[in-house]
Amino acid sequence: MKRQLTMQGSKKVRQGYPLIQQEDLVKAEMSTDWVELTGPQGEFLAMGYLGKQNKGIGWVLSHTKQAINEAFFIHLFQVAKEKRHHYYQDATTTAFRLFNGEGDGMGGLIIDLYQDHGVFSWYNETLYGKKKEIVTAFQTVFPEVVGAYEKIRFESTLPESQLLYGEEASEPLLVKENGITFATYLNEGLMTGIFLDQKEVRGALVEGMASGKTVLNMFSYTGAFSVAAAMGGATKTTSVDLAKRSVPKTKEQFLVNGIDPETQNIHVMDTFEYFKYAKRKNLTFDVVVLDPPSFARNKKKTFSVAKNYGELIEDSVDLLNETGTIIASTNAANVSPKQFKQMIESAFEAKNVTFKNSQNYTLPSDFATNPAFPEGDYLKVYCYNIKK
Ligand code: SAH
Repeated sequence: MKRQLTMQGSKKVRQGYPLIQQEDLVKAEMSTDWVELTGPQGEFLAMGYLGKQNKGIGWVLSHTKQAINEAFFIHLFQVAKEKRHHYYQDATTTAFRLFNGEGDGMGGLIIDLYQDHGVFSWYNETLYGKKKEIVTAFQTVFPEVVGAYEKIRFESTLPESQLLYGEEASEPLLVKENGITFATYLNEGLMTGIFLDQKEVRGALVEGMASGKTVLNMFSYTGAFSVAAAMGGATKTTSVDLAKRSVPKTKEQFLVNGIDPETQNIHVMDTFEYFKYAKRKNLTFDVVVLDPPSFARNKKKTFSVAKNYGELIEDSVDLLNETGTIIASTNAANVSPKQFKQMIESAFEAKNVTFKNSQNYTLPSDFATNPAFPEGDYLKVYCYNIKK
């Protein structure tokens, strides 16, 4: 099966860009088979597939003419496993990403490891249709993974989460990261209770960044940053999230680490409401962690990182002690590192405080990226020391 690309589309593929977009195809004709992508003269460019996703309509798999089959996937998985060599050596971290889509040579599929279980996330129906070969190849390379769940991340009537093969995982499934325990649930919707891309930031908190400090964790979800801070010696953590489920989830994360949740603060509240509440009560903190979703809507207001991050920073500055730290994080792919930094620093300038960028984080190495696909390198975390 062949599909012809436009001049522009061919150029992108030749330069290594892995994502095919609608406008790159000469004819808008999809296929559920592996395809040979050709240039305007019919010349071979790459092997790939077409599958409609949230972004794009297909992925390049290989720049040489070859069969896409079980042997191809086995090779991809072997290379991916080798890349994670040091995670396998490290007994203090048992949950990490095994296969990161285009960063590991095949866009449309992500596989995470939780102790001895896998979690497959499928981003388009075409690749999902090849599930049998892919899963068989995975089991060949990762025989120690005793069971796996799958998440459907494309429009479909399939359940969004279900057992894919093997043994069910216990609920919760306790995993380790930097020696800290996290309670995860592999079959509760699309999320598991922990975002594995923040392991290095949590690692910094565990290793002393929050030692002896009071920590405010905004958009706290299951409180992963709070637990890391508390385990790293924070005197008290305060977790704030709009979702009611965040209270039992956060309590559980403290409990599985032997911390009494009653010694910590957990609020179900809108972040912007909490800022007002804390100001009224004159509450101040040494460290504020800001890790909002890219977009969020509540009754009163729509929040987007691209538009409103500066407000979050300004409000956080108000809640800091005379000296303090802000950990500013975003996963918004539409905001460049430069824009993000600019937004943060403009807010500091507006607040007239002295600031110093002390430490930055991007994706950890298990979230392999493709240098030709910068939008895959989405995580930006900037730490600032502030003096008022
Ligand atoms: N920082 C978390 C992940 C955040 S996920 C971690 O490291 O694990 C985004 C969270 O923001 C969700 O739990 C969601 O409930 C919460 N959220 C969205 N809008 C919010 C708002 N306006 N105020 C407080 N929390 C909000």
